[in-house]
Amino acid sequence: MRYQKPKGTMDILPGESQKWQYIEDVAQKVFNRYRFSEIRTPIFESYEVFERSSGDTSDIVSKEMYDFKDKGDRHLALRPEGTAGVVRAYVENKLYGPEHIKPYKVWYKGPMFRYERPQSGRQRQFHQIGVEAFGSDSPELDAEIISMGLEFLGQLGVKNLKVAINTLGDPESRQNYHQALVDYFTPFKDQLSDDSKIRLDKNPLRILDSKDKNDQKIVENAPSILDYLNDESQSRFEYLKSLLDDLNVNYEVDHTMVRGLDYYNHTIFEFMVTDPAFNNKEITVLAGGRYNGLVSELGGPETPGIGFGLGVERLLLLLDDNLNLTSDLDVYLVTIGQKAEQASVKILSKLRAAGFSADKDYLQRKTKAQFKTANNLNAKYTVTIGDNELENDTANVKNMATGDEHPVSLEKLADELKRIEDK
Ligand code: ATP
Ligand code: MG
Repeated sequence: MRYQKPKGTMDILPGESQKWQYIEDVAQKVFNRYRFSEIRTPIFESYEVFERSSGDTSDIVSKEMYDFKDKGDRHLALRPEGTAGVVRAYVENKLYGPEHIKPYKVWYKGPMFRYERPQSGRQRQFHQIGVEAFGSDSPELDAEIISMGLEFLGQLGVKNLKVAINTLGDPESRQNYHQALVDYFTPFKDQLSDDSKIRLDKNPLRILDSKDKNDQKIVENAPSILDYLNDESQSRFEYLKSLLDDLNVNYEVDHTMVRGLDYYNHTIFEFMVTDPAFNNKEITVLAGGRYNGLVSELGGPETPGIGFGLGVERLLLLLDDNLNLTSDLDVYLVTIGQKAEQASVKILSKLRAAGFSADKDYLQRKTKAQFKTANNLNAKYTVTIGDNELENDTANVKNMATGDEHPVSLEKLADELKRIEDK
């Protein structure tokens, strides 16, 4: 084979692409009902956009970034996630301005890029769907966004979802917690992984998220954020939980769940599943949280924000057996002879203009072979024309499911098919 796709990428072929369209269609419909509109931002941005928003201690920035210098010596990066670009666009386009209705609610879909070791459910180009809402600090919005994520996955048929929530409190609570973590981890410093040693200085919260086995053992007895919340953050969290109860959301509080970035605060959440597609290991399908400091971090005014993101490839691994999408063809035109060949172009054009999906054989094959193709394409109807039919200005319409056949005026073919369809 002369050329192969780059390592960690995939071709999404017809057959598979229908599943993607279906998921994106459900996303759009569900999110639109909550007044989220789609936003499309570039797939590359200034490197600093990601460095600033994800932080230079994150795996994404420190290890996984596809960054490069362009011919003008600009330091750019393929986006590793969706939020940073959306926040950059929010600030650059002054979407916080008075002419925009608040909260400003958007959703996105598209490819993301991370330099990782490819394996099942882990690629170098993968896809995310996500939502962001700016300009409201209200816990009601937090609850709604969690419930919107559940509705989206529910409509797709994802079962046995576990909803884990936690709070990171306000900046004061976090500051107290930060200190408690430094006090706790410092005596273990020599035993921590190299990454976590750096995190201890730069961002101790991140240690809680470490994938290193030994780190995880030390983390087990680390102090809990819930003991460091001030009254306001505490009551906010209680209120959020009561709203989720009102919405019948079945959640668990996981006090070890964190987002290691300074701009996250208050509500964070993850949806997990345990599924044979992942060797019955618990995996996160959707993750999100409130990031009240991010807009100002990227140069905008102090603006609260909240959002979530999910990986489409992993979602597909969960759904594969449930999604049985066939795209049926309305009409397959069977032609006999050269005159019919020539007439077919106009006939097909009229059928398509009338809204039918229609196709024909372009290989001058025998009638039997054409019918076989019609079957393979799951055509609802075949329309047969030959010299006789053309002379009488008729076509022979066959319902492929019932086998019923009858002649129809060529002139009225589209109308006639519509009439049969409506019956
Ligand atoms: P992990 O712990 O699995 O590396 P992460 O914390 O890096 O995940 P996020 O940055 O929160 O993941 O991204 C959100 C979602 O994007 C993940 O839950 C996953 O579904 C998807 N995702 C992340 N990295 C990849 C990848 N390399 N290939 C495919 N999907 C990915
Ligand atoms: Mg990762």
